[in-house]
Formats: sequence, structure tokens, C-alpha cells
Amino acid sequence: MLKKLPKTIEQVSTTLKQNAYRSVVFDFDGTISLIRQGWREIMIPMMVEILSETKTAETDTELETLVADYVDHLTGKQTIYQMIQLCEEIAKRGGKAKEPLEYKQQFNTLLNNHIKNRIQGLESDALTADDLMVIGTRNLLENLQSRGLVLYLASGTDEAFVRQEAELLGVTPYFEDRIFGAQEQYQSFSKAQVIQNILKTHAINGAELLGFGDGYVEIENVKAVGGTTIGVASDEVNREQLNLWKRERLISVGADIIVPHYTEQEALISHLCD
Ligand SMILES: [Mg+2]
Repeated sequence: MLKKLPKTIEQVSTTLKQNAYRSVVFDFDGTISLIRQGWREIMIPMMVEILSETKTAETDTELETLVADYVDHLTGKQTIYQMIQLCEEIAKRGGKAKEPLEYKQQFNTLLNNHIKNRIQGLESDALTADDLMVIGTRNLLENLQSRGLVLYLASGTDEAFVRQEAELLGVTPYFEDRIFGAQEQYQSFSKAQVIQNILKTHAINGAELLGFGDGYVEIENVKAVGGTTIGVASDEVNREQLNLWKRERLISVGADIIVPHYTEQEALISHLCD
């Protein structure tokens, strides 16, 4: 524990204990996959435009601040929750909202168009999976698996997309059938439920759980059961850099450790487990 950590690994928690961890829960987008990079820059303007069509006197800049705030706060939950909030904001401004699902479909259409070259690139081998993942992901998953930890994937993106993209990135074998994503019946899924299932299925306690994520929700959920969290402040464009904005937010919800990527995953896992 007194070993000097490489400079890309920032230990935030002063009470971090080495532990015999048994299970790990991963977020997907921004934590493993970069296929959907840019989703936020699509969702926010879409919502600003919809809200500006109500009777509001707010400027686009004011709307952008409002939208960015709730979008970020809900990141990690299923996308539908961001759309439900949009509907509430429309109603507050005297507008007549459509169903949240319709806005979600509108967003998916825009995003699918944005990422279609990446999907095609992976399918045609013009891009390699490692081009579209956080640096070092495969080594990290390999390391955790070879230590006997059971890996779970829990994402707020529709489960069918998560499964398809995990397959394209070649990470399905690490998770097998333990891949969970958003459901049409959205009440039947949450990351908190996935975590409860992990604890029950393996009869482990929260302290034996590790969580990796770049958003609020997964960090809060893993902390809530007493687990240890690695906040992934990934810069999804300049992959070698630390995203300072994510770092600050992840620390504010209690991330124990911050990393920008997994280049030094060996030292990180050894720090946590050995
Ligand atoms: Mg994420």
C-alpha cells in the first residue's frame, strides 16, 4: 500500500483498503467503449432546440445551461430518464410534450447517424476495436479475469446496442451473459438492481465489489453498497488525456481513485488487490 503509484493513478480516498475483491461492475460508454463518443453534444442541442420552440423567454445559452445540468446529472441512468426530464421542462414552459420514448427515438436516430461510420469501420476492419476503446481496456479486463474476478457490464444504453457494440469490440467473452442495458420497460432495469443481483448471486458483500465508471450513477450505486470505485475521467477524443471536468464530478460523488485510462492498469489492480 505504500508503493508509489504511477502518476496517472490518483488516489482520492484516504481510507482505501486492499481487499479480496470478487466482482467488478463496469459502465460501458466512456468507460470501455468510445463508439458513442459525442452523444452529449448531440443530445443537448436537440433538447435546446425543442425547448426553444415553447413559449419560453430564455435564451439558447440559458437553456443550454439548464439542459446540460440535468443531462449530466442523469448520465449513467437509462436514456429515457433524460427524455422524461425533457418532457417535464417542456410542460413547465407551456409546451405540449410528446411521449418520452418518441424523443428517445429521435435522439437514437441522430446518434446512430453520428456513429454509423464507426460501426461500419469496425465491421469492415477499417478500424480496430482498440481504436474505439479507452486505452488499455483489453489488458485490464484480461488481468481482472485471470485473477478470478467476475465481470459485469451495466449500461444505460439500450441492451441490444450494448450487446452488439460489446461484440464488435471483442469484449463479450469477458462478460459472457452478464451484460445488462436499458429495457423498453425501463422500470425493470437499473444499475442499482444489477448490483443487488451481483451481491445476491455470488453471496458477496458490498466491500468485495469494485466499480469502474465515468458517470455519476455507477459511482454512487457502488459506493452505496460499500464498494470501491474507480472514476474513469476519460477524454474520449484525446484518449491519452485526463478529462478534468469528469474528474471533478467523479470526485464529488465519492470516487476512490481517478484514472484517465488504463495504461497503468497493472499497477492499479495490484494496488487494489495485492
Ligand atoms: Mg459512461
